[in-house]
Order: sequence, then structure tokens, then C-alpha cells
Amino acid sequence: MGHTATDLNESRILLYYCFTPIDDPTAVMLWQRALCEQLELKGRIIVSKHGINGTVGGTLASCKQYVRRTREFPGFKDMEFKWSQGGAEDFPRLSVKAREEIVSFGAPDELKVGPEGVIGGGVHLKPEEVNKLVEERGDDVVFFDGRNAMEAEIGRFKNAIVPDVQTTHDFIAELESGKYDHLKDKPIVSYCTGGIRCEVLSALMKNRGFDEVYQIDGGIVRYGEKYGDKGLWEGSLYVFDRRMHMEFSEDARVLGTCRECGTGTNDFHNCVNEECRKQTLLCEDCAANPATRHCGSEECAAIGERAVAAAQ
Ligand SMILES: [Zn+2]
Ligand SMILES: [Zn+2]
Repeated sequence: MGHTATDLNESRILLYYCFTPIDDPTAVMLWQRALCEQLELKGRIIVSKHGINGTVGGTLASCKQYVRRTREFPGFKDMEFKWSQGGAEDFPRLSVKAREEIVSFGAPDELKVGPEGVIGGGVHLKPEEVNKLVEERGDDVVFFDGRNAMEAEIGRFKNAIVPDVQTTHDFIAELESGKYDHLKDKPIVSYCTGGIRCEVLSALMKNRGFDEVYQIDGGIVRYGEKYGDKGLWEGSLYVFDRRMHMEFSEDARVLGTCRECGTGTNDFHNCVNEECRKQTLLCEDCAANPATRHCGSEECAAIGERAVAAAQ
């Protein structure tokens, strides 16, 4: 065995989720917190009666330990961990919480989970099966974006439907609005970043009369790893870390446009108004100028104007 010096200095980020029934989420949360503290991992973990969802970073040795010890819990035995570059320094702190849901759809009692995962969810498709479905059924296949509308501004599947949602909490009202009733008998491929949101969304859709619902195994991430920019995905992938977005190849199309001037961009910026939490697509020039570095609301635009005036 024996670790080399480089191994010991290396660090990693682990991303994982698992839907499995948990009788005592608080006990699992306390165990996970103690484990992460002991291994000096940082990041964010949510435990609910439906399972666990986490992103943690630390040394390579700690991450390996964490995977081994976490899999000792019977429900997590077969959980897959995605390894990526980074470390504890990518997170401000360690946060381990027990909540009603591991993804906040606002439907904790509707979601049913068994030892095999979510009950009544969409059929899982591997990336190549997604393409096969489209080859066979053509334009009948509908891609349904399971993310917040903002994320889809810079990248989405070809001809995807992007629901009008600001947060995952908005999905149920959106599905029940009648807007998508014409899709109820069509093959629908739901997709999200890494697959977790569609585990829930696809079940909620089926419960609401969508007959043929699929979800992509491993989400956009796995599809992009397989097909890059040569498949049915277009543009950049919004990510929830300081990178903000990533591309699968140098051929990625720029789908986003600057809110101010319409130039192509995939860079989100914080609004000049610090109270406003909106992230807005802006080109480099418009982001550099406080007068244009705002979300588009009149209030924030006025704050931008005042900032420019104050600087003169
Ligand atoms: Zn611009
Ligand atoms: Zn704003």
C-alpha cells in the first residue's frame, strides 16, 4: 500500500446522494456531523427521512475514510460517490442538517421511498439511451428542464421546455397550472445537473398524469461527460460553486445574452444592489460599469446610477 507524499497532500470533493428510508434522520445527521468533524471535512449535508444529499471536501485520505464509513450504514451501502477536484477550502464551513426533504419541492409527504430508491419515479436512461429514444421517437420526445429557469439561460437540451420556476419549490404549482397538460401523453425526458432533482420531479410529474416520464442517470453531468458538445446538450452548465458555470468542450455554444446590451455571455454577476440577491447575465463591459451591473429592476438601476455619481 503506502501513500506517497503527493497522495497525502492531495484533496478532493465528494458529491453524492441516495434515496433510502431513514427512520431517524436526526441520529444519522449527528453521526455524519461527528464523522466529518473527526475527518476535518467541510461542506454541506442534508439528511431527511428520504435519504441523504451531500457535498464535502477534504484530504484524499479523509475522503476515502468518509466513503468507507458512510457506506457502513445499511441504506448507504451501494451509494455512488462522485469524486471531483477541490478540497475543504472550497467550503466556508461544515453544515450538517436534518430537514423535511433532501431537495425542497415542498412535498415531503408525497414522496415515497423504498430500499431501491424513489417509488414511482421516471425510468432511468443512460446517456446513450437518451439518444436512442430520440432516434426512435424523434420530435415527439420532450426534454423538460428540472432546474431553476435561470440555470437554463446558459445551457439546456435542444428544444427543451424550461418551466418558469425561480426555485424548486415552484415546480408543483407550475405542473398544476395546466401549461404542460398537452405533454401528458408524450415521452418526457426530465433532466437536471446531477440527477437528484429529477428523482423527485419525475415522480411528482407521474403523480400528476404525465404518462411516460424518463430521467437521465447522473443528469447533465454524465450526459456531457459522454457526448460533450456533440450530442443533444447545448451550451454551458450552471454549477453551484465559485466557478458558476462549466463547459464540456471548447465547442460549447454561448446561449446566454447580456441583459443590458444583448452580447453573448455565460457569466452571471451579482446585482450592484447588495440587498438584491439576483444573479444576472452580463457581458464583461456591462459588468464592469456600476450603472449597468444590475438585475434590470428600476430600484437596482437607480442604485447603480447613484454609485456612478458618487464615484465622480
Ligand atoms: Zn453587455
Ligand atoms: Zn437587483
